[in-house]
Amino acid sequence: MTDLLIKNAKCLDGRRRTIWIEGDKIAGITDASKGHGGADRELDAERLLVMPGLCNAHTHAVMSLLRGVGEGMELVRWLDELIWPLEARMSDRHLRAGMALGCLEMVRTGTTLFNDMYFREGMLAGTVAGAGLRAVLGEGFMDQNDEERREQTIERTLASCKAIEELGDPRITGAIAPHSIYTVSREGLIWCAEEARRRICPLHVHLSETAEEVGSCMRRWGRSPPALLAELGLLGPRTVAAHCVHISEDDIALLSRSGASVSHQPSSNMKLSVGGQMPYPALSAAGTNCCLGTDSAASNDSLDMFQAMRAASHLCRHGFGAGSIIAQEVLNMATVNGYRALGLDGGVLREGALADLILLDLDHCSMVPGNDLVSKVVHSASGDTVRYSIIAGKVVMDDGKVMNEAAVKKEASMMARDLIGGELDGR
Ligand SMILES: [Zn+2]
Repeated sequence: MTDLLIKNAKCLDGRRRTIWIEGDKIAGITDASKGHGGADRELDAERLLVMPGLCNAHTHAVMSLLRGVGEGMELVRWLDELIWPLEARMSDRHLRAGMALGCLEMVRTGTTLFNDMYFREGMLAGTVAGAGLRAVLGEGFMDQNDEERREQTIERTLASCKAIEELGDPRITGAIAPHSIYTVSREGLIWCAEEARRRICPLHVHLSETAEEVGSCMRRWGRSPPALLAELGLLGPRTVAAHCVHISEDDIALLSRSGASVSHQPSSNMKLSVGGQMPYPALSAAGTNCCLGTDSAASNDSLDMFQAMRAASHLCRHGFGAGSIIAQEVLNMATVNGYRALGLDGGVLREGALADLILLDLDHCSMVPGNDLVSKVVHSASGDTVRYSIIAGKVVMDDGKVMNEAAVKKEASMMARDLIGGELDGR
């Protein structure tokens, strides 16, 4: 029995097809004319575009609660003086409110899978499950070279992985997430590499985001951040390295040989002025799997992956020339490449793949005229164009409506006011 039938939807190649979904998988795709009878629900998609759901390959969803904080500051001061002190004051209720807000924004804007790094992820997994999203959650590992902190962080990481396993939701899995080479000791990094190998799970790390990070790594260890990670066993096919802005030709060769994926966060990089951009053309030519993320709403300030696609395309063309990236490559970064990086068969419309799909309003101004749909999706559509989000076969946004939206926004406003102060929230 088909659970959901999407009838007569326009696909990115301009052709109309009917898609049927059973459980959490795409059970079949056929030409519109052939049809398929007998489904729990039929969705007439005559005026809709169907496409794979988007994967946000690097974010910190809770930080939606800190959206807009520290406007105009550069990365190191922004983290040291503002973000880390605020994070230290967050209670479980603040964290849940931030995660619910982040999930709401992602569902509304077509993200079906996200790769998250934060604290208390085990506790937050229930909030993510309640929002209906698919996610890989990594407990942020930071020991700041302190042995006592390392032991506590290891305990926290193991507890988080256990809580995610006990939740038993197939949409939500754990990752090991060493924050970066500048916040984790050598011993901590080695522990993370071994634990990720033991669990056969993704390893999520920030890498070569600023020139300062690279310079201090060279001075301290006599090698670049990717070379240090490779030496300590952290680079492999299940690694997702976020940023990779300041990398050399040798680093690119190393990343490509290791099979690691890199995640590009163009908006965050530009806003925090990290002094460069991820060299997409060289990474892509070397065969590296490049995906796309937003980073947090505190440094972006949006989790809308359509904005991320547009920024990635514009920034790459600005830096490397008009032909340096085409719309289809950007779309792949935001869909199938992200799923692949996280070891999931999704981000693609294919029989047997995960039923994570979104439907866009073809009557939205940004989609008119209706030619070259891939370019429209990458360059003119926005999260507002999305009408339906289907994740693991469930309709999570239904004709623009998401469950509990008002309650999620009210709680987030209240918790942000409590944490930061009333001046940041007009309501
Ligand atoms: Zn980040």
